[in-house]
Amino acid sequence: MVSPTATVLLVEDNPDNQAVYHVILEHVGYRVLAAWDGEEGVRLAREALPDAIVMDVTMPRMSGLEATRILKADDRTAAIPILILTAHAHDSDRREAEDAGCDAYLSKPALPRAVIAAVERMIGTAAPGACG
Ligand code: MN
Repeated sequence: MVSPTATVLLVEDNPDNQAVYHVILEHVGYRVLAAWDGEEGVRLAREALPDAIVMDVTMPRMSGLEATRILKADDRTAAIPILILTAHAHDSDRREAEDAGCDAYLSKPALPRAVIAAVERMIGTAAPGACG
């Protein structure tokens, strides 16, 4: 079950991925905020304090890994769970995501239900640092 008031910040520079993930997150009842690069993601996270963040890695201006590091180092935003979505499936990319402090990690293309399940798990359990 999804809390009707839960807000998810979607940080993704690819318009097709923004559209797809936006639709599925709204479909299950989340309020969705969109940011199109890491800098905007950090700014919106600080402003809106969302319940969870879905974060792409490769983006202009600031990567998702850098944005994650900044948010996890900031007391105001450190507790917000972050799901990192990356097109890269190598072990080193997973380690980088974990080192940045993400709470969950999925390789693209990520099935819509996998993204929803990961977000629900993060919001429901709040277990920071438990990547997977
Ligand atoms: Mn991207």
